[in-house]
Amino acid sequence: MAPVKHRKIVMLGYPSVGKSSLALQFFKGDFPKDYEPTIENTWSKTFVMGSDEFELDVVDTAGQDEYSLLPQSFIFGIHGYIVVYSVACSRSFQIARAIHSILVDKRGKCLMPIVLVGNKNDLPTHCREVKPEDGKKLAESWGAAFLEVSAKDPERSKLIFTKMIEEIDRVERSFDEE
Ligand code: GDP
Repeated sequence: MAPVKHRKIVMLGYPSVGKSSLALQFFKGDFPKDYEPTIENTWSKTFVMGSDEFELDVVDTAGQDEYSLLPQSFIFGIHGYIVVYSVACSRSFQIARAIHSILVDKRGKCLMPIVLVGNKNDLPTHCREVKPEDGKKLAESWGAAFLEVSAKDPERSKLIFTKMIEEIDRVERSFDEE
């Protein structure tokens, strides 16, 4: 088997959009009812995808707004970003845009694999404030992948992390070809 590939990923997004719930669903297989608000936490897991083995470190952050200054530790040595908003909160969608601008400012445009995630799509239709098409369009404008999910759904939560790994490979390959 090929050597283990290390991938360090940061989860960003407005507070309460479900970042911790998505991470817990993937790392612990549980949707917690009363998880404490995150200060910052790093989850680690080794898993196999295709013929590759990955050592995945995921930094779950406290949450950002448009004035957040992302620390250097979220910029250097990071392979990819999972940017989360809630489909039931248009403000969190605005903040996802703001976070992307902050990232571009700090990192420059190249080599920035991103998965944009619209979470809480299990909520009833009348709660919805962000259309799936709007999430898709925003991700396209960033050259990023897009998923709508619910942290209550283990398979969809896992898909975020496998998609992230695929995006990192895709962006790195396209960079090598340039
Ligand atoms: P974070 O601050 O972004 O880490 O958000 P949390 O994971 O702490 O979640 C904030 C609240 O949203 C909690 O009450 C969660 O139970 C709830 N929540 C998270 N994900 C979902 C989801 O997919 N669907 C629903 N209905 N609630 C969710």
